[in-house]
Amino acid sequence: MVRQDLELLDLSIANVTMAEALDMVLGAAGGMHTMHFVNAHCINVAAKDSEYHKILSQSDALFADGSGIKLAGKWLGTPIIDNVNGTDMFPLLCQACARSGKRLFLLGAAPGIAQKVVDWTKEHTRSEIVAGYHHGFFTSGDEPSVVESINSSGADLLLVAMGVPAQEKWIARLRDRLDVPLCMGVGGLFDFYSGSIPRAPKWMRSVGIEWVWRLCMEPRRMWRRYIVGNVVFIARIARIRFSRVHKESTTE
Ligand code: UDP
Repeated sequence: MVRQDLELLDLSIANVTMAEALDMVLGAAGGMHTMHFVNAHCINVAAKDSEYHKILSQSDALFADGSGIKLAGKWLGTPIIDNVNGTDMFPLLCQACARSGKRLFLLGAAPGIAQKVVDWTKEHTRSEIVAGYHHGFFTSGDEPSVVESINSSGADLLLVAMGVPAQEKWIARLRDRLDVPLCMGVGGLFDFYSGSIPRAPKWMRSVGIEWVWRLCMEPRRMWRRYIVGNVVFIARIARIRFSRVHKESTTE
C-alpha cells in the first residue's frame, strides 16, 4: 500500500518511519539539500510567517514531529506512521555517522553547549563524528568566519539549533554560500544532549505529552507556545476537517 504524505497548510509532510527518514538524511548528496522537522508550533508559525512557510515548502523533506502532527493526520484521514523528531533521530544519526564515516557540524545554542554535545557523541559512538561546532549567538560581523569554518570542516551535515523559524531562515539566507550537502534545523536539541535541559521521561514521550514536560521546564517561555498554541492548532485542523467534509458533502 502506498502511504500518503500529510498535506497541511499547503505543506507536504513526509509520512515515513524514523528508519526511512534516517535513510533520506544519510542519502542526501550532490548540491545542497534542506530537511526540516515540523511540529504543531511550526505549523502555527508558518500560518503567520510567509517567509518561513515558503522555506518549508521548498525543502527537500519535512518530517512529522510530535503528537500534534499525529492528531492532524488522524483527523485529516492520513494516519501518521511515526514520530520523526530530531531529538530521537540524533542518537541514531550519530551511530550511522560512526558507521559510515559521515561527519556533522553543530551550529547553535549558547556558548559551551555544542562542545558538551561533542563530548556526548564521543562517549556514545567512540568515534569522531563532529567536524566542527560553533555557538548560535554570533553577530552578523562574525557570520563570514562561521560560514568559513563550516565549509572548511568538510562536514556532510550541518545541524542548526537556533530555534524556529530563525534556524530555517538562517539556512535559507546562507544556502548559496554553504558548502554542505544537507542542512537541518534542530531547535533545542543541543540543550538536551549537553544535559543543560533534561528531556521528558520516556513514559511521557511514549504517550505524546513531552510538551507538558517542556512547559514545566520553561513555563515563562513556553506557555504561549503550548497553552495558546495547542488550542490554535487544534482549532486550525478542526476547521480544515470541517471544510473538507463540507466540500465533499456539497459535491456528492
Ligand atoms: N538560540 C541560538 N541563537 C539565538 C537564539 C536561540 O542559538 O540567537 C538557541 C537557544 O540557545 C536554544 C535553541 O536556539 O538552544 C532554541 O531552542 P528551542 O527549544 O526554542 O527551539 P524550537 O523548539 O523553537 O525549535
